[in-house]
Amino acid sequence: MKAAVVDNNKFIISIKPKPMLDEYGTGAIVKVLGCGLCGSDIVKLQTGIAKDGDVLGHEVVGEIVEINSNTNFEVGDKIALGHHVPCFNCQYCWSEHYSMCRHFKETNIIPGGFAEYIYVSEEHLHNTVFEVNLNLTDVEASFLEPLACCIRAVRRAGIRDNTKSLIVGLGSIGILMGQTIKAFGNQVYGCDLLYERVCLSENFGFDKSFHIKDEDSALVEMQKFTKIGFDNIFLTAGASRCTNFVVKAARDGANIVVFSSVKSDAGFKNNDIYYRELNIMGSYSPSPMDLEDSMRMIEDGSVKVNGISTIYPIEGINDALADTLSNKIMKAYIKL
Ligand SMILES: [Zn+2]
Ligand SMILES: [Zn+2]
Repeated sequence: MKAAVVDNNKFIISIKPKPMLDEYGTGAIVKVLGCGLCGSDIVKLQTGIAKDGDVLGHEVVGEIVEINSNTNFEVGDKIALGHHVPCFNCQYCWSEHYSMCRHFKETNIIPGGFAEYIYVSEEHLHNTVFEVNLNLTDVEASFLEPLACCIRAVRRAGIRDNTKSLIVGLGSIGILMGQTIKAFGNQVYGCDLLYERVCLSENFGFDKSFHIKDEDSALVEMQKFTKIGFDNIFLTAGASRCTNFVVKAARDGANIVVFSSVKSDAGFKNNDIYYRELNIMGSYSPSPMDLEDSMRMIEDGSVKVNGISTIYPIEGINDALADTLSNKIMKAYIKL
């Protein structure tokens, strides 16, 4: 089968053996229809976390072509999925840090979503695989996992009523995060260096977004809307200097959710956290419950996922990568 394989910090299209259900006994073989290119795939590719020969991709939409399972799934079902399954029975799971569960980190789809076929285990079928409503397009369904990540982040922040949240970075994740906050009934503001993204976020229902030409004037502009700073801030941009900006835009006692990795060891400062009682928390990957909510919110339209992705054929995956990195597009969907 055809697959986009990691090779020297890029992709090459090569032929890999198709996964066989016989090898595993239970589970399903899924024909991949398409798969979103996630920011985390790009980080893995660029930092060398992904090794040559690996197949990345996890925001999969596909069709079950072979199955041996005691779930209700059947051959022909169109599905979307999450790729990690928690054990529900460890110290991490009991404290609802499902994505820290060691079993969660070990489980995956095989070989990865940028391939014509994947193997999905019985455990995945029970917990992280969802049938796609036929009213949805493949691209819409591919937002199951990224939106679920945002739902988890918004929950982690514990947003109170009548508070103001700021999204720093209005890429695809920022847009989804802001819509999630709106769907939960709270005010949301955004900011970005790119003017088009500022405008786009307002089309997606943000109360107001700020174009950052320089940080100081952006902070002054923000102060007109919130005198003492934002109650909740979601950092979705990956530039190291964003951490400083976030601390300046926050009110004392704010919740700051970190949802991006930065290249250098830049970070939040001890004394800001201490004297200003800042609550700084990370949010990483979704639980099966977040996936379930995500599917429902895509289906009922409380979060709009149209107009975010650009479609590329698998042969064009390196163009998709380059166009994402140069901000020419918001997000790529790779069609198999
Ligand atoms: Zn993802
Ligand atoms: Zn666990």
